[in-house]
Amino acid sequence: MSAAIKRSPQSFIILTYGCQMNVRDSETMAGLLNMAGMTETGALEEADVVILNTCGVRHSAENKVFGKLGEIKKMKKEKPETLIAVGGCMSQLADARKKLTQLGADVVFGPNNISELPELIKQVSENSRPVVKIMETIDIEKEKLPARHKPGISAFVNVMYGCNNFCSYCVVPYTRGRERSRGSADIIDEIRNLAGQGYKEITLLGQNVNSYGSGLKEKITFAGLLAKLQDIEGIKRFRFTTSHPKDISDELIEVIGAYDKICNHIHMPLQAGSDQILRAMNRGYDTGQYLQLIDKIRMAVPEAAITSDLIVGFPGEEDGDFEDTLEMVERIRFDAAFIFMYSPRGGTKAAAMDKQVPLQVKKDRINLLLERQYAIAAEINKSLENTVQEVLVEGFSKTDPGKLTARTGTNRIVNFTGPDTLSGQTIAVKITHSGTFSLLGEMCQ
Ligand code: SF4
Repeated sequence: MSAAIKRSPQSFIILTYGCQMNVRDSETMAGLLNMAGMTETGALEEADVVILNTCGVRHSAENKVFGKLGEIKKMKKEKPETLIAVGGCMSQLADARKKLTQLGADVVFGPNNISELPELIKQVSENSRPVVKIMETIDIEKEKLPARHKPGISAFVNVMYGCNNFCSYCVVPYTRGRERSRGSADIIDEIRNLAGQGYKEITLLGQNVNSYGSGLKEKITFAGLLAKLQDIEGIKRFRFTTSHPKDISDELIEVIGAYDKICNHIHMPLQAGSDQILRAMNRGYDTGQYLQLIDKIRMAVPEAAITSDLIVGFPGEEDGDFEDTLEMVERIRFDAAFIFMYSPRGGTKAAAMDKQVPLQVKKDRINLLLERQYAIAAEINKSLENTVQEVLVEGFSKTDPGKLTARTGTNRIVNFTGPDTLSGQTIAVKITHSGTFSLLGEMCQ
């Protein structure tokens, strides 16, 4: 970076990678930069500051960021005053951080340093020296920071930060720090405020929402929090993610069944269908316990959609272990699942384990599992044809702008023809066609 460049950044763009936590963090970054007088632009080449909010959970996510940095570096040749700021989980990982600075990042800041972003940009603008700011512990004032929520009908609200679980493959406890819950009054205030701005659906976020409340002075569980939120006027639906299977309580299942505003959808990652692999992953449950939980949920809330994350090719996964996963998928019939190939993350226990699985074996396994899971999802969706579903309308579809897009409580996308005035409304739609990932319907008169 040249020391002679004079900068007075006015505009920014944020490129967000990874999970909903990052989406929410990006909203806070945008809010802070707006407060500092900067405006957001939608075009990379127009931005004075390009912010990459990164994900370190998978190797492929890291590669995307490195690729993007290369692209921005080329762009900087035309516009050398552009500043590059990199935040998110990658910046918290020492190896990745080193590469980020080598690739030309001017500011590197951790998920716990978001509040300092405007100041860090100012610093580097004034003295042209790269800055790196990483804090290991969670920024306790994060929830108090201004946020600029994305326009629409849905908003994300953090109920807790960090994670204490230390699954052996995961970097989150190292990048996001230990678990900390927000007080319920604070959460209720934020949601009331969002309701006042016209949001209709709130997704409560936490790495493990089911352990919400531990460490708080007030005595409250996640189920208790959900119950408390029901009276907030204007909000039609509550979603939540992610539910660690080991911490799903009977009370939570009861509350999901009892309140109409809580969507009948539970995302509870199984990760693997072999007990040996679950132990090595340090997941804290076995397949028997997971199946019992599925039975309990389906008994109490038969219409609930259950979705999962699955990892193939974890170290030591033999053909038999993978077959166990296939069998669990057949038996449970998840409504949807995110399926990933295991990728070693530096600093985690799994990265140092023996018997890493060759890439080709992982590829073969993921293809088999995807094929089976997609077929199951398509079969379940097919069974919804000719049924009437209550959906919340989100607005025009991004992929088919002539149609409105809406979502069922079970998190299925339904596209149909109708006027934009329906956005934010809950209406009944008859399902006319189904696919693996979405449904087509028509409005009921
Ligand atoms: S529960 Fe496990 S996989 Fe999820 S964030 Fe925590 S350590 Fe990572």
